[in-house]
Amino acid sequence: MVVKSEDGRELRSFRFKDEDESQEVRAVERRILLETLANQLPTEAVHFSSGLEKIETSENGETLLKLKDGNQLLAKIVIGCDGIRSPVAKWMGFSEPKYVGHCAFRGLGVYSNGHPFEPRVNYVYGRGLRAGYVPVSPTKVYWFICFNSPSPGPKITNPSELRKQAKELIRNWPSELLNLIDLSPDETVSKTPLVDRWLWPAISPSASTGRIVLVGDAWHPMTPNLGQGACCALEDSVVLARKLANAINSEPASIEDAFRSYGSERWPRIFPLTIRANLVGSLLQWEDPIVCSVRNNIIIPKLVRLGPIMEHTNFDCESLMKTNF
Ligand SMILES: Cc1cc2nc3c(=O)[nH]c(=O)nc-3n(C[C@H](O)[C@H](O)[C@H](O)COP(=O)(O)OP(=O)(O)OC[C@H]3O[C@@H](n4cnc5c(N)ncnc54)[C@H](O)[C@@H]3O)c2cc1C
Repeated sequence: MVVKSEDGRELRSFRFKDEDESQEVRAVERRILLETLANQLPTEAVHFSSGLEKIETSENGETLLKLKDGNQLLAKIVIGCDGIRSPVAKWMGFSEPKYVGHCAFRGLGVYSNGHPFEPRVNYVYGRGLRAGYVPVSPTKVYWFICFNSPSPGPKITNPSELRKQAKELIRNWPSELLNLIDLSPDETVSKTPLVDRWLWPAISPSASTGRIVLVGDAWHPMTPNLGQGACCALEDSVVLARKLANAINSEPASIEDAFRSYGSERWPRIFPLTIRANLVGSLLQWEDPIVCSVRNNIIIPKLVRLGPIMEHTNFDCESLMKTNF
């Protein structure tokens, strides 16, 4: 892992081998992850392009899902994993996620003859602005730029405009980032306002109501500053699948109990992470020149230790083979 200042000066480089051998960072392209997961399911199990429009509970406790294409599904169990604007979460009474004051441009640079980078995560820290890039395969390199903005601004979908705005932010920064933006195909470039929702005890609704439960961003949208949103969604899935398998296969506990138990087990993990991610974002988005100078010349080169800053990634899912899904 390498941290640089906006003029390209290396502030610090870390090797997991030297700092904490138990840690590692793996960058996975979203498409590959989704295809890998979907390929484990029977082909007819996933219906794509089936947007949920409306939810109703029927008298026998089942849930009626009305889809945008006019189809309806009567479900015994609903697992809402429909992201930050989840209609399921809204229906359960969750508030809209809150904008935290910064946005991110993202993309995937494609080098058809192989990229020139080492297999490491690169961060560049500026004032109120930071960027990063990391290879995700021999030919693809993920990049992001995070910038302060008082409001999310208008939604932009034109890739040329997105690329132009992203490059404008870092026009005097190390050239590899500018090249990466130029090499990113249209469909990979996006701008996202960063949001989160803090699940205050006794104030926020529970993760489940009856036989409807939330997973991932639908339940706990968090800012990406710790790189944990998707990881937590995967952790949720493992824990929930185990609870459900127990309820269905062997134990006397009901589905409702299984969902409640999932919510209680996961909350102590995701609530502090959501807050920590938010605070880390505020620190990393500092604009004050004196504070940024202290960060670049003292905190990063001399004080930061990799073990403690990666400690939040430690989560033991245990062997997936042991569970009878
Ligand atoms: C800039 C940025 C960088 C990030 N970096 C990292 C990182 O390094 N590591 C990490 O772990 N996480 C990261 N994340 C967070 C990660 O992207 C999310 O936490 C993760 O995608 C959540 O997964 P999910 O399945 O809960 O939701 P999503 O990935 O949002 O999936 C939700 C799904 O629901 C579908 N959907 C939405 N509405 C409906 C509807 N009405 N009906 C039916 N389906 C619907 C969507 O089409 C989508 O397929 C980052 C996020 C951002 C914004």
